Amino acid sequence: MSLKDSYESYRKNGIFFVITGPSGVGKTTIMDHTLESDERLAYSISHTTRDRRPEEVDGEDYYFVDREEFEGFRKEDRFLEWAEIYGDYYGTSREEIDRIKREGRDPFLDIDVQGAAQLRADPSVNPVFVFLAPPSLEELERRIDNRGAESPEVKEKRMGVAREELSRIPEFDYLIVNEKLKRAVEELEAVIKAERLKV
Ligand code: 5GP
Repeated sequence: MSLKDSYESYRKNGIFFVITGPSGVGKTTIMDHTLESDERLAYSISHTTRDRRPEEVDGEDYYFVDREEFEGFRKEDRFLEWAEIYGDYYGTSREEIDRIKREGRDPFLDIDVQGAAQLRADPSVNPVFVFLAPPSLEELERRIDNRGAESPEVKEKRMGVAREELSRIPEFDYLIVNEKLKRAVEELEAVIKAERLKV
């Protein structure tokens, strides 16, 4: 084995990066920027029972399925983790992660705190957990308002869930505050770089 190959053998491959944070914090934007500049990362496409938004593509943003199909998957233990969020189901399928690993890439997951807790308890995976936080609750509320289309009840519910999620930051490995997009992207890239250099 060449020295270079032996160095590679010291490093982990197929590192799981789990990104969690309250809805409205800018997770999708930050993750999209990071994915653009990093070919080794592969976005893990979740299954969901929620309705597709107009700009979303089935099989790219999510695999959109009905409740029956989702429950079938659950019964067959085909999800690595899953959660019910605002009345809809979301889950990461084992097949999706296997696909990414077969490509020799690092799974990049956008999941909620409940899903993150399931992965933490699963000895078969050893992810890097990153929490993306808003600079303040007021700023989070402003961002949710800017997205529009939320009724006051839904908004209040999202803010309540956000407060609960923020209280779970100590369970994570890294905390990135999204005050400025460019800085948050750089910090996430720094985390990824450092984790890949670990022996
Ligand atoms: P949205 O409906 O806005 O796309 O996502 C709502 C929430 O579901 C976000 O917090 C997102 O991180 C979470 N989510 C998306 N996919 C999954 C998944 O596969 N598992 C879990 N546990 N949460 C997910």
